[in-house]
Amino acid sequence: MRLFEAIIDANHRAVAGDTTAGLHPADYADELPVIALTCIDPRLNAFFPNALALPADQFIWLRNAGNIIFDPMSSMTRTLALACAVKGGREIAIIGHTDCLVCRTTALQLLDKFKELGVERHSLPDNLNEFFGLFSSERQNVIKAVDIVRHSPLIGPKIPVHGLLLDIETGKLDWIVNGYQTLETTGSQLREPVAGPIGQGMQALGNFNIGEMKFPETKIGEYATKAEDWLSKQAGKIETGAAETIGKAAPVAESVQKIAGQVVEFAGKERSRPPEMAEPPPMPPKIPMPPPIRPKIIQPRNKR
Ligand SMILES: [Zn+2]
Repeated sequence: MRLFEAIIDANHRAVAGDTTAGLHPADYADELPVIALTCIDPRLNAFFPNALALPADQFIWLRNAGNIIFDPMSSMTRTLALACAVKGGREIAIIGHTDCLVCRTTALQLLDKFKELGVERHSLPDNLNEFFGLFSSERQNVIKAVDIVRHSPLIGPKIPVHGLLLDIETGKLDWIVNGYQTLETTGSQLREPVAGPIGQGMQALGNFNIGEMKFPETKIGEYATKAEDWLSKQAGKIETGAAETIGKAAPVAESVQKIAGQVVEFAGKERSRPPEMAEPPPMPPKIPMPPPIRPKIIQPRNKR
């Protein structure tokens, strides 16, 4: 059994009342950390990552209203891509949930809500359904999101992309798309052109003429570091030159040196430092699945 198969198996056993259900995360070290995209619904705060029986430091949690993926190059897809490339995420799960308000809200209701907030119709795009990605089926929304991510040129063919649905009343997780199976069946097709909007996204990337674009070669904040190096070198040159000609560092060299020193100090404070390569904490031996979660709303007592 692979990671998410084990998670769902343990989840189903826990929901059925098996108090011994859980996961040994160390058995799945090669498949961790996982990246999950869920809805912003605060009711989900109680479920993750405990409903997956994963250590918190192996769970990269992304959220947006309705766990929507708009297109293969969207900002959320870029974040998923960086979560894999920079944070080492090994598997992606798009986890929808039952009773999603984004699903239950119609475009007309949304207009009313915006009006209450002082946002008039004319400031909103014509097609609200398309703009906000409103959907009428939580399942279909997850299927669509998985499909877009699976075919995004930013997500490598080695990353399984799963689709799950969480029952917000019980905490039960169900498969919508088993990403391991999809990986096996579509792995070879991923390199072929794909039709439809996803294909267009890929084509757009394929047609991307790098020669026409000017890419900044430095990251934000990197200029300070470069300026520091450059100024240090210039100061060194002036100092050497001055020493050669008059046998002693001139005052101008001293002032350049001083400015360089200030830049160095500033850059040292400002630039982001690479993360310390500390040993990751050892995986806990076994994380039990939580018992079925049934959020109870306790009504305040009537005091009279
Ligand atoms: Zn939701």
